[in-house]
This record gives sequence, structure tokens and C-alpha cells, in this order.
Amino acid sequence: MTRAERTTCVVVGGGPAGVVLGLLLARAGVEVTVLEKHADFHRDFRGDTVHPSTLQLLDDLGLFERFDALPQTRLQRVELVEGSGVVAADLERLGRLLPGLRHPYIALVPQWDLLTLLADAAREEPSFTLRTSTEVTGLLTGPARETPTGRRVTGVRWRTSDGGSGELEADLVVACDGRWSTARRSAELVPRELEVPFDVWWLRLPLAEDARDARLLPVLRRGRAVVVIPRRTAEGRYLQIAYLGPKGGDAALRARGVEAFRRDVAELLPEHAATALSPDVIRSFDDVPVLDVRLSRLPTWHREGLLCIGDAAHAMSPVGGVGINLAVQDAVAAARLLAAPLRERRVRRAHLAAVQRRRTLPTVVTQALQQQAHRRVLAPVLAGAVGGPPRPVLAALRRFPWLAAVPAYVVGVGVRPERAPRWARRPAGPGGRVSR
Ligand SMILES: Cc1cc2nc3c(=O)[nH]c(=O)nc-3n(C[C@H](O)[C@H](O)[C@H](O)COP(=O)(O)OP(=O)(O)OC[C@H]3O[C@@H](n4cnc5c(N)ncnc54)[C@H](O)[C@@H]3O)c2cc1C
Repeated sequence: MTRAERTTCVVVGGGPAGVVLGLLLARAGVEVTVLEKHADFHRDFRGDTVHPSTLQLLDDLGLFERFDALPQTRLQRVELVEGSGVVAADLERLGRLLPGLRHPYIALVPQWDLLTLLADAAREEPSFTLRTSTEVTGLLTGPARETPTGRRVTGVRWRTSDGGSGELEADLVVACDGRWSTARRSAELVPRELEVPFDVWWLRLPLAEDARDARLLPVLRRGRAVVVIPRRTAEGRYLQIAYLGPKGGDAALRARGVEAFRRDVAELLPEHAATALSPDVIRSFDDVPVLDVRLSRLPTWHREGLLCIGDAAHAMSPVGGVGINLAVQDAVAAARLLAAPLRERRVRRAHLAAVQRRRTLPTVVTQALQQQAHRRVLAPVLAGAVGGPPRPVLAALRRFPWLAAVPAYVVGVGVRPERAPRWARRPAGPGGRVSR
């Protein structure tokens, strides 16, 4: 059965960008509907790093106390080589240099916990609707208003997991449906792909409750690398491992067999060798999903009636774990620039272009830094040319430890951090409201 309905803003996708945008627009009094194809927010191996800029935003939104109560791991320093004492990113030092930075650490929290918290806060607003198990399958279009020819996006087509379908018309559609965005494809917006030399295979190694505290650590050897991410969730403690290999190497890795893969992981992480070698832990390659790493961005983020933000506008490399935070910052900027035109029902392409203008610099700078890390560190390691980070970088960090505050700033705060608009702020604790 097909039903047609109407709202002011449709947000496609309930990831970090979509849920934050929904929450903020609802706090501005805009009627907003978020459509999410999954039944819940539960997804394994997603971006789980919440950086100081996002922690600050949670504070501004009056949600920090709730967030802080979630099971989490806090990271203040990232060592470059285990046991070397050389710190690559030092958030603690950054906090001392910037006393206004209220939360100088990275919180590792399951993405589903963060999204559930944000969606619960959004549901407190009468103009917010979240429809789960609802997949957007295409866009509705009508004659353009701003140009003599062409088409304007006027809403979306959706279907539910139980076979329902319908159309939802809106003044604006915001594509927050991630790096394989359906809405973007339907609008014929094509991202420009940048070269990436590696893919990532994800796995988990269980940790005993009494195991000593692990640290976030890159381990670089000739031809191979892993990043160890210590996790603490409601289900207990474990290590999330990102195994890095050459781009397109999935078939070759599988052809070598799961035993060879277990041995690789054990050699890279001798302290956890027994766990890595156990056939009960990495049972098959089904326990090791591969992430096809992409670095891309749209030359134009909008069409009349449609805006792309977050991964839909720019897929980020996992280097620095900045994906969630950039997506959230895009959403804050979009909400600030679009709330008034949406409320007054006068959104024009110029408003959408203003969002792109605001968020292009942080995207381009962050991607350029990620490309440098790919070229100078990861590509030589994965090609087997070197077995560690560049010596000059190690020497510089050893001699001038304060340099570690620079990557901490770039990753933790970022270029052009966004603060919550005044109308979206709430005092700490439940129930506080601030007039618009
Ligand atoms: C395996 C993995 C590990 C990562 N690790 C990190 C990390 O440690 N730190 C970090 O910051 N970033 C990390 N990232 C990147 C980070 O997860 C993303 O950058 C971030 O989630 C982007 O947010 P988003 O809201 O733009 O898109 P997404 O998080 O991709 O959200 C898109 C949402 O849209 C929904 N959706 C998709 N299509 C449709 C449709 N047609 N209709 C309705 N809904 C739809 C999806 O179900 C999803 O909920 C990782 C990504 C992956 C894949």
C-alpha cells in the first residue's frame, strides 16, 4: 500500500549525522522525521570514538551527564611505539594548554549507546519522529523553482521491513545515509574518490576482567600493522583490533587460510598470542569483517531540495577515528544554518551551499592529513619497506614532547569545531529548557 505524507525536513539515515541533526532541528521547533532502515542502532565494528569536540557538544546540549554514565574507556595519550615512551597524541597536555577544553580525552563508547542516548533526547521534542525499519528507496522530484529547467527534490520513497511502502514529502531532504548513500545516488551526485593504500579487517580478542589495562596502540611491522583499541561495554572488556593490509587484499588473505591469519595476529600481539591462536576466538573469516576503506568527497553537496552531510558527503579514512565527529559537526552546522529557513519554510539552494562552504575546510584539511599519514606511514609499512613509523618523526617527538599536543588538537578538536546554537542548549541534568 502506498501512502503520501508530509513533513518539513526528512533526514535519511539514523547514524551520528542524522540523529544529531534530527535532535537539533526538533529543538528549534522544526518538524523533522528521521528514517532509519535498521530496526535499532545495534551494529558491530562502527566508529566508536567520541572526541573532545563532541563531548563539548553533549555538554552544551545538557546530555553530558547521561553520556558519562555509559560504560566507556577514556584515552588521554596514544603511544607511537609500545614501551618507547614516545607519545603521538597527548590530550592530557592539550587540556593543560587549553584550559577551556572541558573534556580532554577520547571516550570509546559503542556507537549504538551514543545514538540511543541522542534519539531518546530527541524523542522528548514534540516535533521529532524516528521511524526505524524504514528504508529510503528513492527520491520524489518536481519542477525546479530556482532555475528555469531541472528538477527539485520534494521528498522520499520508503519501504518498511514488513512490506509497507509510501512517500514522504518535505521542504528539504537531508541525506545522512552514509558512504553508500541511496539518496545521493538517486540525486546523481557522484563523489570524487581519493587513493587509499589499505583496507581494514576487524576482529575482537576477549580480555579477562582482571587483565591489566590495555592502551590504544598502533603496532607496525614490515608488511603488516594492527591498531589495538581497548573497549569496555555493558558486555564486558575486550580488545577491538584493526588489522591493516594492502588495498584489495581480502581474497589473498582468505586464500592463506584462517590459521595463517591467527598466526599473523599472534606475532603482532605476542602478549595476546594464546587468545589470538585459539580456534574458539577467530573461528573463521566470518569473525573478521573487512572494511573497504574509502576517502572521498562530493564536489557539490546539494541539489535543490536535497543536502548531503556526514559520510554521504565525505567518506573518511579510519586514521584518527574522526568520522563520527566530523559527521556530528556537519549536523550542528547544518542545523544552525537551516533551522530558521526551515521554520519559515523558505529554504533555498543558497542556504544549502552555505552549509557546504562552512564544512568544506575541515573536510579537506582532515582528508589531506589522513592522506599524508597513508603515504608517509602506512604505505611504506604495508609495502614492507620499513617496520615502524618514520625515524625523523620519532626523533622529533622524543626531543619536543609538546609536539604531541598538535595531533591531539587536530584529532580531538579539529578544524573549525562547531558549538551548539543557543536555542539547542539545555542546562545539565534532566528537564532543563532554554527558550529559542
Ligand atoms: C567498521 C568501521 C569502523 C569505523 N571506526 C571509526 C572510529 O573508530 N571512529 C570514528 O570516528 N569513525 C569511525 N568510522 C567511521 C564512522 O562510523 C562514520 O564516519 C560515521 O558513522 C558517519 O556517520 P554518518 O551518520 O554520516 O553515517 P553512518 O554512520 O554510516 O550512518 C548512516 C545510517 O543511515 C542508515 N541508512 C543507510 N541507507 C539507508 C536508507 N536507504 N534508508 C534509511 N536509512 C539508511 C544506516 O543504517 C545508518 O544507520 C568507522 C566506520 C566503519 C564502517
